[in-house]
Amino acid sequence: MEGNLPRAKRLFGTNGVRGEIGRDMHPDLVLRIGLALGSLRGGSIIVGRDTRTSGPALASALQAGLMATGCRVADAGVIPTPALQYAVGKHYDAGAMVTASHNPPEYNGVKIIDTDGTEMGDREIVLLEDRIFSDSITTVAWNRVGTVVSAPHIAEEYVQGVCSHFPEGAGEGMTVVVDPGSGAGCATTPALLAGLGCRVHTINARMDGTFPGRDPEPTEEGLAPLAEMVKATGAAFGAAHDGDADRTVFVDEKGRFLEENREFALVARHLTRNQRGTIVMPVSTSRLVEMVGREAGCRVDYTPVGSIYVARRMRDLRAAGTPVMMGGEGNGGLIFPDHQFCRDGGMTAAMMVSLLATTGESLSALAGDLPEMTMIKEKIRTPRARDAVLTLERAFSGEDLDRTDGIRLNREDAWALIRPSGTEPLLRILVEAGDAGRAEALHREIRNHLRNAGITTGARS
Ligand code: MG
Repeated sequence: MEGNLPRAKRLFGTNGVRGEIGRDMHPDLVLRIGLALGSLRGGSIIVGRDTRTSGPALASALQAGLMATGCRVADAGVIPTPALQYAVGKHYDAGAMVTASHNPPEYNGVKIIDTDGTEMGDREIVLLEDRIFSDSITTVAWNRVGTVVSAPHIAEEYVQGVCSHFPEGAGEGMTVVVDPGSGAGCATTPALLAGLGCRVHTINARMDGTFPGRDPEPTEEGLAPLAEMVKATGAAFGAAHDGDADRTVFVDEKGRFLEENREFALVARHLTRNQRGTIVMPVSTSRLVEMVGREAGCRVDYTPVGSIYVARRMRDLRAAGTPVMMGGEGNGGLIFPDHQFCRDGGMTAAMMVSLLATTGESLSALAGDLPEMTMIKEKIRTPRARDAVLTLERAFSGEDLDRTDGIRLNREDAWALIRPSGTEPLLRILVEAGDAGRAEALHREIRNHLRNAGITTGARS
């Protein structure tokens, strides 16, 4: 996606490499990732992990590969991915995070963090994969083998880094409930909200790689106990993370789940109250964010789907002198460029405190001010996903089509994104409109074009 690639990635997806333990994720693969990263980057490299039971074994394999290629390894233990990224940006030549993010407990994987703290870009990942699959990685001589030291201060440094963006006591008088889902956010989010002066209650805040309270993916159903606790404690909101705490989702003071695109829109509205700048997001994001941004006089910039494209676009815009307000995805992964160029769950939770403290309104009232949108999502399992995109491109030619990732059809009252999966024989369809009838009509139109082209349509979600 970043210019012309020499060839496609084989192992890594948009968020690192992931697999099921014992099936397609093994310590020997992770050892090779360590050897490859160590020989590609060298220097001092920090390794972190989420709370998965397989984490220590995989992190050890990764560290072995890094040391065998001469790196100085800092072992941060269990920390959120954004805390690791923050540390790389400040102190290290690169980082590696052992995590499977929101995937079930039996999964694990590795995200590679480059020198500037962003996830490693496509070009470097292709070079890294070349090394992973080659037989010729040279390890260093006995007297140049690397070392490992523990780095227990990273969580604290990150907490202080987040708090430094807000006035002292920003959360005073506010009660909040945090649900890190037994994941890496246990290490930081309760502490940082307390650091802002909030009264903090927690649920699922003991690190546990079996994830006994709920799945690492923070879904509305999984957050029912959080919602109960928010109501019982009279909290202003409940904040929940995925396994590595780069994403945060919220329930309001009435215990109602805040859809993630609405979360993005509320935070964007808050940040653009007194300032203008570009808001960056993937083409899959609700039009709600664009509406809020334009209302505030901001420019909106769309990228391909994947947080790394958002983060790097933000970084590049800023480097070119363009003011950038924020970026993010409609899944609770928000990026605050004054802090760092990556999705940051801790920063997102802190921003909600700032938002409520500044406006003096309840979260439910603020969310109620946003227009309602209807979003329809469909996945179609077909080997002809690319044909389908071409078919629809022809059918809608003459209309406003954006080709950033698949095709996005923009109409006045509705829009649709039709995108083939990069890794599976799968076509993803997303339709959104302010009016439910308009969304249904456009979805039907797309299905009819596909059916006429002999492509069977699939299950809606
Ligand atoms: Mg994650």
